[in-house]
Amino acid sequence: MSETEQEQSDRQKYEFRKVIEKLKEYRGSGTQLVTIYVPPDRLISDVVAHVTQEHSEASNIKSKETRTNVQDALKSIKDRLKYYDTKPPENGMVLFSGAVDTGGGRTEMITEVLENPPQPIQSFRYHCDAEFLTEPLEEMLTDKGLFGLIVLDRREANVGWLRGKRVDPVKSATSLVPGKQRKGGQSAQRFARLRLEAIDNFYQEVAGMANDLFVEQRHEMDGILVGGPSPTKDEFLDGDYLHHELQDMVLGKFDVAYTDESGLYDLVDEASEVLAEHEILQDKQVMEEFFEELHDGDKATYGFEPTRENLVMGSVDRLLISEDLRKEVVAYECPNGHEEREFLDSDESAGEHSCSRCGETVEDGEREDAIDHLMEIADQRGTETVFVSTDFEKGDQLLTAFGGVAGLLRYSTGM
Ligand code: ZN
Repeated sequence: MSETEQEQSDRQKYEFRKVIEKLKEYRGSGTQLVTIYVPPDRLISDVVAHVTQEHSEASNIKSKETRTNVQDALKSIKDRLKYYDTKPPENGMVLFSGAVDTGGGRTEMITEVLENPPQPIQSFRYHCDAEFLTEPLEEMLTDKGLFGLIVLDRREANVGWLRGKRVDPVKSATSLVPGKQRKGGQSAQRFARLRLEAIDNFYQEVAGMANDLFVEQRHEMDGILVGGPSPTKDEFLDGDYLHHELQDMVLGKFDVAYTDESGLYDLVDEASEVLAEHEILQDKQVMEEFFEELHDGDKATYGFEPTRENLVMGSVDRLLISEDLRKEVVAYECPNGHEEREFLDSDESAGEHSCSRCGETVEDGEREDAIDHLMEIADQRGTETVFVSTDFEKGDQLLTAFGGVAGLLRYSTGM
């Protein structure tokens, strides 16, 4: 993935995360909030048929209020589906609709369509509950990376992909390696030699399979995981069967009992710590760099206003934003033309602003999501944006000690 694509997808993920957080908070007074996950290959006409069916079944719901609410939600979804031709967008879409509580016994009808999530939707799901179903989307957002998977013993091997959290088995092979028991009449020496040859041939075959699959995509891959019983996986790795560039990408070897397709899933489970570590590796590196600059260098800035100022000057190389930052910025212009901003929590009300330069009071400002605001400037100045996870100490410090916004500078600005 190129840097710009990575950035676009980071930004898209941020936009999704915001919508999901909002959807998660909604509650229905009854089982009346409808969520539909539509995979890319599902025909819109099938979805409409399903919704029509659910609509007629909903007439059996005992509570009149819930019944009306569910049917209204389904009708609203059907209306939205009219905007689509035969198929959903490339990665599918998710439809949310229902009457949500707004307090004081009142409800409000909410309908939201999320198109093209970061990964293709795997299966059609119809869900009706007191809450919207957001977990599958949330999982996609934490998912990062593309890994090659290899499991093998001396009889069988499977190779495949791990894309985010999804395991994709691709190829398998079985060997002709004879068992340990030799037949009568065969010399022990000859038998042992033939057996070693067969094992060697099989390892070559497995490596060939992995090379075919992985070599071309090695620049997009984050690593390779190898699993199997001992000593097979060790022999395989120590014997340098893999293409040398792939060999360098092996993140670890793991004990896995099965080497059929299910072994690929076991491998991912066994490697979970390594994968979690890898996911925040880049974030860790960038934060290390930030702290080094902060203590021993002069190319670090932090806090909303100083970082923004550096951004505007074009001196920020990488903009660091905490993944958990939820802030808004309000821009005020006083009667004397002084422009100032306030950096607020998303649920904090703005109130009036008094200009720090001339003391004039300004009643209204223009309110905007702080991340959108910063990223827009970053885009104009060719600054890369890095979203930093809070799942490690220094990442958490970015949010708690530095206001969630920092920058690594291209050059020292003496600020
Ligand atoms: Zn002023």
